[in-house]
Amino acid sequence: KLLFIAKEKAPGESRVAGSPDTVKKLVAAGLEVVVEADAGSQSRIPDAEFEKAGATIGTAADAARADVVLKVRRPDAEEAAGYKSGAIVIAIMDPYGHNDLIADLGSKGLTTFAMELMPRITRAQSMDVLSSQANLAGYQAVIDAAAAFDRAMPMMMTAAGTVPAAKVFVMGAGVAGLQAIATAKRLGAAVSATDVRPASKEQVASLGGKFIAVEDEEFKAAETAGGYAKEMSKEYQAKQAALVADHIAKQDIVITTALIPGRPAPRLVTADMIASMRPGSILVDLAVERGGNVEGAVAGEVVDKNGVRIIGYNNVPGRIAASASLLYAKNLLTFLQTMIKDGDIAINFDDELVKATALTHGGKVIHPNFGGGTP
Ligand code: NAD
Repeated sequence: KLLFIAKEKAPGESRVAGSPDTVKKLVAAGLEVVVEADAGSQSRIPDAEFEKAGATIGTAADAARADVVLKVRRPDAEEAAGYKSGAIVIAIMDPYGHNDLIADLGSKGLTTFAMELMPRITRAQSMDVLSSQANLAGYQAVIDAAAAFDRAMPMMMTAAGTVPAAKVFVMGAGVAGLQAIATAKRLGAAVSATDVRPASKEQVASLGGKFIAVEDEEFKAAETAGGYAKEMSKEYQAKQAALVADHIAKQDIVITTALIPGRPAPRLVTADMIASMRPGSILVDLAVERGGNVEGAVAGEVVDKNGVRIIGYNNVPGRIAASASLLYAKNLLTFLQTMIKDGDIAINFDDELVKATALTHGGKVIHPNFGGGTP
């Protein structure tokens, strides 16, 4: 079977869905691996390293021969038109709100898997692209904030006087938020955090962060069975806003990471709150591509509001592409390994990982959440 690792076409996508390590393992598993020329260049993986791992270097046209295509982003219509019917495509498919595009991929006869729908269960931990990428995004958010901040992060007592520790507030303490807390702590900042899931309270405390939240009855029930946050009521959001308003005014750096699967990101920081911050303060909105947690944040831009800067970089994991690609490639390999037997690929549609992630198969959409019936 032939496996193709594509060069990403989406503007600004610097990651790649394979690494020398994963190529070596795929070849050892009996697959023929073709990597599109230059696919890893933005992740510091030269073609020669893929070749050394056992791949051949090809062109986009080789995708037409592929039984499996590995990508970071969902293929666009042109790419998908170049794949053969029956090919398996594994990527971050971004299916919410894109039922039509998913249906198009289905009608081309592709079997598509959305890696971001992988269940958060122990067996699938090593396939969890949301976690691997969010972890790096949380780290990078602090690095970006520290680079933009005109002061030092740690407290420094010097002969010339004392520099105070930066105050960092992390909103949303999931995978990205917890890594942001840990990173800011390592840099010596004074860190606080908030979340709506009760389980996060202990996790924030264990990293040395101060926990700040409205802990009412709604808070106690805010976590879904899948471990995600629910969309909170207007009343809760108002109480939350009142609580954090005072706190934000005293912060130097605010990093927001709050998401709700399949919904727009909750608005957590208002223009009034930003106006209350001192000039030189920094906000980093990691949710900017999903509607944003911060009022006035613009995807792909740094916005200045009277000296307070709102950083809204797109694709933050892509800002640390060499690390992000290694982990992403490993996530895909581990998932694919569940299907490879003796150089052949067999999909078990009864497997809960397949059920959760398979969007299209046999000419149609099969995922119930995106317009499909049962497989
Ligand atoms: P996410 O990216 O969906 O959201 C980020 C955080 O924002 C979450 O902690 C969420 O509770 C929070 N949030 C949502 N609305 C908010 C609001 N109004 N105010 C403040 N915070 C708000 O979350 P995630 O990082 O993907 O993590 C989701 C859950 O999955 C967590 O419980 C995490 O521990 C769990 N998880 C489990 C596994 C596993 O067992 N394999 C792996 C990864 C994550």
